[in-house]
Amino acid sequence: MIIRKSKSELETMREGGKITAACLNLLAENARAGVTTGELDRLAEEFIYEHGGKPEFKGVPGPPGFAAFPASICASPNSMIVHGIPGSYRLKEGDVISLDVGVRYDGFVTDSATTVAVGEVPPDTKGLLDTTQQCLAAATDQMRVGKRLGDVGHAIQSLAEARGYGVVRDLVSHGVGRKMHEDPQIPNYGRPGSGPRLLPGMTFAIEPMITLGSYGIYVSERDGWSIYTDDDSLAAHYEHTIAVTEDGPWVLTEFAGEFRGRS
Ligand code: MG
Ligand code: MG
Repeated sequence: MIIRKSKSELETMREGGKITAACLNLLAENARAGVTTGELDRLAEEFIYEHGGKPEFKGVPGPPGFAAFPASICASPNSMIVHGIPGSYRLKEGDVISLDVGVRYDGFVTDSATTVAVGEVPPDTKGLLDTTQQCLAAATDQMRVGKRLGDVGHAIQSLAEARGYGVVRDLVSHGVGRKMHEDPQIPNYGRPGSGPRLLPGMTFAIEPMITLGSYGIYVSERDGWSIYTDDDSLAAHYEHTIAVTEDGPWVLTEFAGEFRGRS
């Protein structure tokens, strides 16, 4: 069942979304050569609590035999696609780093991610980042009343594949609200006109994960969390929490630069 949110619930999610967005913005500004992912995590955690939110990722139970997620953000460099545990990894010139933030605020979760180039990167890396961002924009544009979830996945897949990139299939976009992962799971590929019909008040975390090579993945046996491309190709990941409304898509985690903290 897809849970629809009331107007006032969406407004609450937007307030939380501003914290998520501003936190990601802060991380992107600080993702420079020489900084560790652990330092970025501490920065984010402090920021989230300071603004009345709670980091949603911390304490999420791990797969069997592995510890709960220990940090407030996911920080996934280069061929790591998602779920990287922040720590001693030090960013260097030419890296790409995917940063994912989930914030609980007043009972609701917003979930958003960005991929940052550290210093100068080669043109093919830049192309991957630009295309993944454009995939998210194309998907967002499909989030209109009467469209279907297959239209959203198709928008991502058709753009990425037309440019020769891989679309990760084993990780999905998802519903989001009082829980970080609500129904349904939404593949980042699909057939136009297929799947559930979009209705006002539905809220989804749309998150294309696109690679310079294969779409196959593997999970680290070392930590049970980090997920990599199986051919070690670079990956990019952008995500927004978006509501379907009568007036069109409402990007709840959009950062307009106007955030001044809790009023
Ligand atoms: Mg996320
Ligand atoms: Mg997500």
